[in-house]
Amino acid sequence: MSERFQAGFDNVDLLRSAVDGMVWPSVPDGAGAAALAMQFQLAQSQCWSPEQLLSHQLQQIEIVLRHAFAHVPHYRVVLAGAGYQPDRKLTREHFAQLPVLTRKAVQSIGAALFAVRMPAGHGNVHAGETSGSTGMPVVFRSSALEQLMWNAATLRDHEWHRRDLGGRLAAIRFAPGGGMTPGWGPATDVAFKTGDCPVLHIETAIDRQVDWLCEQNPVYLLSYPSNLAELARAFIARNLTLPRLRGVRSVSEAVRGDLRGLVHQAWGVGLTDMYTTKEVGYIALQCPDHDVYHVQSENVLVEIVDDDGNPCAPGQTGRVLVTALHKFAMPLIRYEIGDYAVPGEPCACGRGLPVIREILGRSRNMLHLPGGELRWPLCDLVKEPELPGIRQYQYIQKSPEHIEVHLVVGPQYTRVLEPTLEAIVQRRLGYPFKLSIFYHDDIARSASGKYEDFRCELPG
Ligand SMILES: [Zn+2]
Repeated sequence: MSERFQAGFDNVDLLRSAVDGMVWPSVPDGAGAAALAMQFQLAQSQCWSPEQLLSHQLQQIEIVLRHAFAHVPHYRVVLAGAGYQPDRKLTREHFAQLPVLTRKAVQSIGAALFAVRMPAGHGNVHAGETSGSTGMPVVFRSSALEQLMWNAATLRDHEWHRRDLGGRLAAIRFAPGGGMTPGWGPATDVAFKTGDCPVLHIETAIDRQVDWLCEQNPVYLLSYPSNLAELARAFIARNLTLPRLRGVRSVSEAVRGDLRGLVHQAWGVGLTDMYTTKEVGYIALQCPDHDVYHVQSENVLVEIVDDDGNPCAPGQTGRVLVTALHKFAMPLIRYEIGDYAVPGEPCACGRGLPVIREILGRSRNMLHLPGGELRWPLCDLVKEPELPGIRQYQYIQKSPEHIEVHLVVGPQYTRVLEPTLEAIVQRRLGYPFKLSIFYHDDIARSASGKYEDFRCELPG
């Protein structure tokens, strides 16, 4: 089946060579060779059947469980309580009976989730922290081996989307000070000589971002979905283009509304999104042929479950549970990461990697209806024809019946429009919420640079 995909990189001439006088074929150094060797295996396993993938995942999880039971204080207790037998072959049914580990639990368990001993060959263990835009970061540990998996998945992403690795990548992200990095980042640069990467801080005013991008004239643009939407609108409004641009990449936030259409309208190129987290690495990558995501089954086992813990059918929204296959420093088994997603039917591209149709983001970004129902609040006020002049908006749900609407408006907007705004918001959100409207010069991003257009502040 692998013949169906055009395998390999367009830029083999950009492979780094560690040996003097040897430019073709290149001789990669140890880290480069390891990343390419892993990526070579991923190129095979993407074609496996779902059954074949699952049996390899269970085989790997069996080893993680044995390690967790022996060397991780929290799992020693929890697995014993769940009737875990280390010498038993792990089946799908046994796995589904293992307890779920919530994000909140990870925060309260703390160091008892860290392994007191590591298997040989996993390299240095480092500590990290998720960005925690709610003020509740997760403290985690990862090994050098997990970095190797990260590098391999990064290379897969480039290969899938046939990127020109020598091109300039402009990044607008959380980077106070900005600057210019000599390459796309360590995960790619480990194997390839990449193009340069000018970086601008996400808090820069949009018009300044537009001018900067026109100066940089990049081949690729990377930013957060909320920022890309504003940028695309600004390019359309100012009738500007980026003539060399081949693709837009999004990270960090959920892609909402019609961002893909907007990116296409502004720059005539596609949007490629990815689903990664600091604590478990790559969860899913966008299919190169269709606007869906493929789970990175070689790194994680993903379950999408309903409120009763049963697997969701394609099209049904559920909670994301992730099991990291190589996380020995801090095993995360059936870890409820806090995101909601929608599984999809098998992809027509032929890859056996499971499909996620949509990644909806965090539960704190969901609307809570007074009856208890949770919903994705899609109510974009910027492109609303009846409400001219709205430049930026943010909803904050303060109680089951009360929502604050924070706005940044231009001269076209007047307060006479408030009743129209209230009617539109109530209709779209599906309930006659009490609305309080506030006006600002600017609505700030969170400390990590992410923007939440809807935030629910109800307890729990
Ligand atoms: Zn596909």
